[in-house]
Amino acid sequence: MARAIQAALLLVALSFGNFARGQNSIRCSLIRAQQNSVLITWEASPGTNYTLEETSSLHEPWRSAGVYLATTNRLATSVPLGARARFFRILQERRGPSLQPANAPQTGYAFDPRFANYYQNSAEVPQRVLSINQHLKDKGLLGELAPSIPVAEPGAYIAMVHTPAHIQGIHSIPIDQAHGATERIGVIADLAVAHVLGAVRDVCDGKIRNAFCNIRPPGHHQINSGFSYGFCCHANVVIAARFALERYPSLIKRVMIVDWDYHHGNGTQFFVQNDPAFLFYDTCAGGFYPGGDESHHGLMTGNPGNDGFVREWENEMLPAAREFKPDLIFICAGFDSKKGDLMGGLGLTARGYSLLTRKVMDIAAAFSGGRIVSILEGGYADNNGFFPPTFNGLKEAVENHVRTLMTGELQPETPFF
Ligand SMILES: [Zn+2]
Repeated sequence: MARAIQAALLLVALSFGNFARGQNSIRCSLIRAQQNSVLITWEASPGTNYTLEETSSLHEPWRSAGVYLATTNRLATSVPLGARARFFRILQERRGPSLQPANAPQTGYAFDPRFANYYQNSAEVPQRVLSINQHLKDKGLLGELAPSIPVAEPGAYIAMVHTPAHIQGIHSIPIDQAHGATERIGVIADLAVAHVLGAVRDVCDGKIRNAFCNIRPPGHHQINSGFSYGFCCHANVVIAARFALERYPSLIKRVMIVDWDYHHGNGTQFFVQNDPAFLFYDTCAGGFYPGGDESHHGLMTGNPGNDGFVREWENEMLPAAREFKPDLIFICAGFDSKKGDLMGGLGLTARGYSLLTRKVMDIAAAFSGGRIVSILEGGYADNNGFFPPTFNGLKEAVENHVRTLMTGELQPETPFF
């Protein structure tokens, strides 16, 4: 009797029409409870990829239980029934990697104009992401990037990292109408996570090789403060990594996070430092915000510039990465390490960001199937006293970073630097 109820529950889950972006959920044609497992069979189209996902309830995040390439007209799998496995769904890719044209973009781009709809500070301003987006458009790069579609429900993944009190705190920050804001920062922080997760999904599904997320608010300082801490609302990169580990357990077991922001990624370090699934490597300025624990690698002093960063990475980061063998790499891409940044400056130039990007790509090519997701952290106006402020250094540094992700080729120095 209990088994019959279990089978009935499973049937309900499979016909539950929850559509993931870019995928169709399909019905199974046969489901049969066995002693300690369940047999699921479905009609299939040869040459098509299917993802089986499981969860313990309809309200929790779905986790991948396997990816199947159909070679016949029928697919079957036997899934062990554990305490967690109660509900299943099968997703059919609308567009599998093999169906993409050979010249399809290999680099994704996550951006939403709504990222400009909140105001929180005279430095972390909407013009940051808007000027980057306009610059990529002016340079003709937007058409060569694959726009990432955000995941529909980021809340479950945010809740895997942040406490309810933190989430409530962020969502209760009022709209700063005096500065022209039209939306709550908490709403946009959720949207930023949704876009980052969309980029992670596309990279892990093999639709693109890597991605750049032009998002705000940033995330690498946030722990569980309940307020915007160092301009950061949600720990974007940690949530993205948890999403990848949960949703792609057979593909993603080890995640490396490289942070080249001027400031220490203290929030990221807090969440991942004791977890063997993570390697966190951070190059930042010593003795500056946010202070505190600086036990990470790569404390930079003086004006290290491109050569200083490369030397530090070759001595510390690259050997650690080769030993760790990541399945997925995140870049906490802070561009306040660039020469002439209003809030930082460690002498990196646009050429330097290309050099560092290429080094991450070399590690990704060797160990992680090329999988890189780069997420904007800091990076502010030019420190030239102009009003309104200019963002030439930021735009050119990001352009070189993105061009390198797209082509793997080192980029020349740019006019600003
Ligand atoms: Zn920073």
